[in-house]
Amino acid sequence: MIRGRFAPTPSGLMHIGNIWAALLAWLQTRHANGQFVLRMEDIDKPRCRPELAEQALADLRWLGIDWDEGPDIGGPFAPYTQSERDEWYAAALDRLEQNGLLYPCFCSRAELLAVASAPHGLSEEGPAYGGTCRCLSPEEQKKRKAIKAPSLRFRIGEDHSSISFHDEAAGKQTFAADAGGDFVVRRADGIVSYQLAVVVDDAAMGITDVLRGYDLLDSTPRQLMLYEALSLPAPRFAHVPLLMGEDGKRLAKRHGDTSIAGLRAAGVAPAHIIGWLARLAGQTDVFKPLSAAELVQGFRLDLVPTEPFIIDSTAMKQLMRI
Ligand code: GLU
Repeated sequence: MIRGRFAPTPSGLMHIGNIWAALLAWLQTRHANGQFVLRMEDIDKPRCRPELAEQALADLRWLGIDWDEGPDIGGPFAPYTQSERDEWYAAALDRLEQNGLLYPCFCSRAELLAVASAPHGLSEEGPAYGGTCRCLSPEEQKKRKAIKAPSLRFRIGEDHSSISFHDEAAGKQTFAADAGGDFVVRRADGIVSYQLAVVVDDAAMGITDVLRGYDLLDSTPRQLMLYEALSLPAPRFAHVPLLMGEDGKRLAKRHGDTSIAGLRAAGVAPAHIIGWLARLAGQTDVFKPLSAAELVQGFRLDLVPTEPFIIDSTAMKQLMRI
């Protein structure tokens, strides 16, 4: 039985880029008669808003994307909301700590804001960590802890020089194990990082297949290291190309209103949005209105293009039915 998931962060309105990944993850799971899990990734509480979580669920339902387990309906692996899962993260941190894989880091707070949310590309995370605090003596650590709360970093083992995995959409991948250096698993303010939370939750929820945007491809090696360190089985991964604005950057607010709520308010029908996405995904040759359910049987991941899409004004007009 395959188990897929969609894991939105309720820090903004869901837009077509989010729905693109949600639809493909849902189709992959439903096509295989699997179970689909919805998890709310609100670990970075200050950035997230409960009303946006509600809105995300409403948007998905409106588009005909359903789930078997989730924050609103519960399930065997509840809770499905990260802000309620602190004890799972604490247990994982304990285990890493016992295995000598964590160390306190007293370096600048610059990383503090970035690490809890899913990083959208290594470049957005700043330079690779050079390992300044890797070898501090216990006395030195104690002295510094009295002055400043440290973040916790995962110590990348020297036995790994590179990490390879097969990506179901992007093909064979190889990364230098230390590409980003030892990475933060808990911020100085106590909030656990995206990398840790996503691994702990996907494993605890029995997820077998993670399909998500290409911007998280370079997070996967770090997640694989955590699976290994925690002796947890890793899922299969598929990273699908991103929808981008005309400037070649990941679709965002500045590219105009592509939010589902906005499209809905403008009178665009769900079948129109799904049909538009299905065409992009190579599932249909021509644009036609379709329901998500109609795409399940014939779904083929290998038909999804591997190059990113530029959503220019013509594409937007088609989406907006102008
Ligand atoms: N919550 C993450 C995001 O919204 C996605 C995490 C994942 O799919 O691994 O970017």
